[in-house]
Amino acid sequence: MKKLLERFCRYVQVETTAVEETDDYPSSAGQLELGRMLVDELKALKLTDVTMSERGIIMATIPGNQDNVPTIAWLAHMDTSPEASGKDVKPIVHKNYDGKDIVLPGDSKQVIRVEETEQLREMVGQTIITSDGTTLLGADDKSGVAVVMTAADHLMAHPEIKHGPIRICYTCDEEVGRGTDHIDLDALGAIAAYTLDGESHGMIENETFSADLATVTVNGYNIHPGLATGRMVNAIRIAGEFISRMPWQRLAPETTSGREGFMHPYILKGGCDSTQIRIILRSFETAELPKQAKLLGQIAATLEAEHPRVKIDIDITEQYRNMVEGMNKEPRAVGKVQQAMKNLGRNYQLESIRGGTDGSRLTEKGLPTPNLSTGMHNFHSPLEFACLEEMQQAVEVLVELAQCWAKSED
Ligand SMILES: [Zn+2]
Repeated sequence: MKKLLERFCRYVQVETTAVEETDDYPSSAGQLELGRMLVDELKALKLTDVTMSERGIIMATIPGNQDNVPTIAWLAHMDTSPEASGKDVKPIVHKNYDGKDIVLPGDSKQVIRVEETEQLREMVGQTIITSDGTTLLGADDKSGVAVVMTAADHLMAHPEIKHGPIRICYTCDEEVGRGTDHIDLDALGAIAAYTLDGESHGMIENETFSADLATVTVNGYNIHPGLATGRMVNAIRIAGEFISRMPWQRLAPETTSGREGFMHPYILKGGCDSTQIRIILRSFETAELPKQAKLLGQIAATLEAEHPRVKIDIDITEQYRNMVEGMNKEPRAVGKVQQAMKNLGRNYQLESIRGGTDGSRLTEKGLPTPNLSTGMHNFHSPLEFACLEEMQQAVEVLVELAQCWAKSED
């Protein structure tokens, strides 16, 4: 665990915040800096085929020591969320956690409270890592990066453990939705993959939302307000009506949970002449998405009838699909993790996430990729923390998983 902690604390100190407003890939130079560190480390551990693409994607191989075992891959992302600063992160290690609220020393207003963070109750006596409260910690996903590196280290140091070839892949810009844009799946060459990008411990996320984006453009007619009588068509006003007619007591993120889907307007911009509303459509049932789109179409048609001179266009683009659909193609992807958890005597839960992961897109492209727990909590917030014992559990799951893949089916 010492090495795991040392790695984690070293990685979080490299600023790898992803940047939304750029076409550069990766979106920030820090990701390349961390990438170079990881490349050196993978080489020092004697992994083979260590490469960093011009886009900053890193791949390496833990060579197999058994014949006829399929290749699997372990993925983690190097970037961190732009929702809070990732500059000058000072990791603080709370050894032998005492079960009390944790006041972060750099900003005493930032307190990780036990009553808001139930999981802390299980962590008394364990090691918790936080930032000083002025930045993100970046456990999302440096915990995954450190877990994958430590599992690779363990397998390279213990040739007596039987396993097939394992590909390591460190990716960029997951947090700005571009995590899989430049992963060369042929070069990766795996039949199943795992993202180490899940919270807490013991979770196997094998289901995500299916997702579309609706862009609603309200086209009005602008003219000087002094001359507007009977002539102006105010797109802002009609966009406001459009939103007010969308259901919110159901089919909204604020009022749904569990397996219920929603429609969520999240950007509104424009003027009197033209106003655009961006609405994300989400459901675990892909077949529900066209019904949501149809509902938006009905609202538009009603408004067009009431305001004959307005024109409302709705453009639907596909975002990602529930990974469960692609997971059925390779049931071993989830089955082998379940087996690994059983072998380790761990409880586990299959989880459906009300969102997407890099794994949703990879699964859609034909590489089944469930997401696994890696010991992070409260991510995207200065109150983020990681639990060292949970990260260690994630390492053990990977090592056991490697062995499960090497065993024959029966
Ligand atoms: Zn993440």
